[in-house]
Amino acid sequence: MRTKLVGGNWKMNTNLGSARELARAAARGVTDSPATVILFPPFPYLLAVGGVLQDSGPGVRLGAQDAYPGADGAFTGEVSLSMLADCAVSVVLVGHSERRHLIQETDALIRAKAHAVLDSGMTCMLCIGETLEQRERGETDAINRRQLESALTGISPDCASRLVVAYEPVWAIGTGRTATPEDAQTAHLGVRGVVASILGSNAAESLSILYGGSVKASNAEALAIMPDIDGFLVGGASLVSAEFLQIVEAVS
Ligand code: PEP
Repeated sequence: MRTKLVGGNWKMNTNLGSARELARAAARGVTDSPATVILFPPFPYLLAVGGVLQDSGPGVRLGAQDAYPGADGAFTGEVSLSMLADCAVSVVLVGHSERRHLIQETDALIRAKAHAVLDSGMTCMLCIGETLEQRERGETDAINRRQLESALTGISPDCASRLVVAYEPVWAIGTGRTATPEDAQTAHLGVRGVVASILGSNAAESLSILYGGSVKASNAEALAIMPDIDGFLVGGASLVSAEFLQIVEAVS
């Protein structure tokens, strides 16, 4: 049985009050859920959200939207993994499409981040996915393969249990367009095959692969029943508690 996961990526949204409120609603709403929820607040609210979650049990984890791959030092504006550990963060997003495409993170930097997160003992949620142009050229599987091989080659198979992959087609993120369940399933199957070639078939079989891209309460169930979709990474809909909890319910 693979772990069912639902991530709520708040991106650069919320304020101190609304961040606490969203966290309270998640903690109250998922007590009986077999799925694990991971909340990714903006950095300044990690401690406050962690405070809300501290008595909520293992069903809700605290995540960070990014991390710098080096040890503490002269890296103005960056946040290290040891700082995140101090905030009780246990999961870090790596390679989100907004960081790949808006912030221009390179494959080499994403690889360094993935390795550093896994070496630190935290869970790495590696985001991959193709742009619309790449999809129209029929390159979805090739792009996923390139991004996976680039980030994961050389990681120790011992770390595989702390790896999660989020397949997020760039054209579906924040656009209201969603991959069909069949298209998402095909891509996820391809991802599992690539991970098997890098980390072995046992690691690939137990890997949780999440779908992300305009997931809503209205489309979550049809996606969640696909055999290789193990949960979701949710952006916009994670900012509305009732909708987010319906998505968690669909995965459960
Ligand atoms: C995301 O931020 O990872 C995401 C999938 O966003 P949205 O759900 O808004 O498309």
